[in-house]
Amino acid sequence: MNEGYRMEEQGFEDLPSLPLSQDSFKELWESVTTPSISTIPTATNETWMSGVVMSLIPDSTLQEGFDERLFELPPDVSPTDSLTPPASTVPTTTDYPGDYGFQLRFQKSGVAKSVTCTYSVQLNKLYCQLAKTCPVEVLVAMEPPQGALLRATAVYKKTEHVADVVRRCPHHQNEDVLEHRSHLIRVEGSQRAQYLEDPHTKRQSVTVPYEPPQLGSEITTVLLNFMCNSSCMGGMNRRPILTILTLETPEGQVLGRRCFEVRVCACPGRDRKTEEENANKTQNGTKSTKKRKSQPVPDTTVVKKTKSASSAEEEDKEVFVLHVRGKERFEMLKKINDGLESLDRENKKSKVAVKQEAPLPSCGKRLLQRGEKSDSD
Ligand SMILES: [Zn+2]
Repeated sequence: MNEGYRMEEQGFEDLPSLPLSQDSFKELWESVTTPSISTIPTATNETWMSGVVMSLIPDSTLQEGFDERLFELPPDVSPTDSLTPPASTVPTTTDYPGDYGFQLRFQKSGVAKSVTCTYSVQLNKLYCQLAKTCPVEVLVAMEPPQGALLRATAVYKKTEHVADVVRRCPHHQNEDVLEHRSHLIRVEGSQRAQYLEDPHTKRQSVTVPYEPPQLGSEITTVLLNFMCNSSCMGGMNRRPILTILTLETPEGQVLGRRCFEVRVCACPGRDRKTEEENANKTQNGTKSTKKRKSQPVPDTTVVKKTKSASSAEEEDKEVFVLHVRGKERFEMLKKINDGLESLDRENKKSKVAVKQEAPLPSCGKRLLQRGEKSDSD
């Protein structure tokens, strides 16, 4: 297709500037359509928004006729935005207890209708309501170095979304006045929480200083809030997320990492129950299909054998002589043969009772036949 284009373009000799301008337009078009809304840094959006607002709308109109939904649509991407490289660094999501034995624990909240935050051990998944307190218990086997931090980062679970940065939806962002209003995860009840955005990946995280457990306790509790529903349009948009909790040195070196899935929804108890039941069904389903799968295997061998039942039984009675070079090899093969013979006898006993034939004797036979061939070679 590209070649076709070029040949056509070369035909227009009287329009020498055309190919050049088309190329640059094509490049521009590609660069404009590539980044998705979630990879565009909020800071840029804000400057873009305030720029437009300041220059086009008088103050009085802004206060009266302000429409929150105005910003729900992706803004026309300006050339500066399209130059921003899409987030490429994907946070690691594998658990790593590290030298300090970093672990997480969740309170047992059950699946009652009224529950606002509940954790499924089976699915390693936290179910919570929007902006409700989610206590996460942090355990270490050894006290981390002075100034250690805990960091919470959200990342999309599925490979096809993992490159997108997790942020709050435009609606919830616009409803909020806080400086860190675009952050999905917040730490509640700590004045020392810091909201950060990686300048390169644009991924957002929140850190709090690690506090050793209080006297008589083995855990430190961190209170997390998730500030959007999993279903929020323009935000998570029903895409499942993982929360990564890392224990880090003050310099940002990771000492330990734990991940869990999070679903922010209206009925955490109900959803956890449903999803656990579904998981059990699928597990049982695969188990029963495995059973079903394993059953046909002897069936097919039976079919094969019944086809040539008479010849197979005759073959079993036939005796082959095997010449083996070397006593050691002979002893080894004899042991195998002895074993197979005794198996044969046992099978015949059970065959009389169950009328079922084990595949082993025929396998053993093949083994010996192969040995015969290779030896004679
Ligand atoms: Zn939202």
